[in-house]
Amino acid sequence: MEPGRVFVITGPSGVGKGTLIARVREELPDLQLSTSATTRAPRPGEVDGREYHFLDEEEFERRVQQGEFVEYATYSGNRYGTLSSEIEDRIEDGRPVILEVELQGARQIRDRIPDSVEVFILPPTPEVLRERLLSRGTDDEAAIDRRLETAATELEAAGEFEHRVVNGDVELATEQLAAVIRAELSQST
Ligand code: 5GP
Repeated sequence: MEPGRVFVITGPSGVGKGTLIARVREELPDLQLSTSATTRAPRPGEVDGREYHFLDEEEFERRVQQGEFVEYATYSGNRYGTLSSEIEDRIEDGRPVILEVELQGARQIRDRIPDSVEVFILPPTPEVLRERLLSRGTDDEAAIDRRLETAATELEAAGEFEHRVVNGDVELATEQLAAVIRAELSQST
């Protein structure tokens, strides 16, 4: 059996990666979502094992040492990573997998899984990111400023990505992302 394709969705914090992935999965329910691990504290409403596997620093580092991560990065003072156990069996079973990662993680996946399909999500304007992070209400102002600083660097890397989708109108962006994924899936079968 052909291995499942890996789709990597990246782009700055606040750009709406999670929303787009959720909407695309409604259209393409076979897409398997990888649940990341993080040392960040859960936000209100987040459930361990659903939004993330919430690990303490010691446990995260232990898993790094054990080689359990396909990629991992430090972002805004917290660690994030994709556990091999989230994706390996699914790929082997021929199922497509979708990952949401920041830029450093996307670059690692590109090296480790060269035939992965990477999509960079851009905001329509840089100001939109601040507005979205503020209205999300999940981070304090200092955290938002850190995320925006990182976002500026991340946006400079957009040109590295073959596929880019601007998330201005969410319906349109969902269709564009779904079209990229459908096209790749139809090529691999
Ligand atoms: P948040 O704290 O807002 O949930 O996530 C912060 C950033 O980490 C976002 O850009 C998100 O896409 C990214 N992220 C989430 N999971 C992973 C992961 O497994 N690996 C990497 N490298 N980044 C991740």
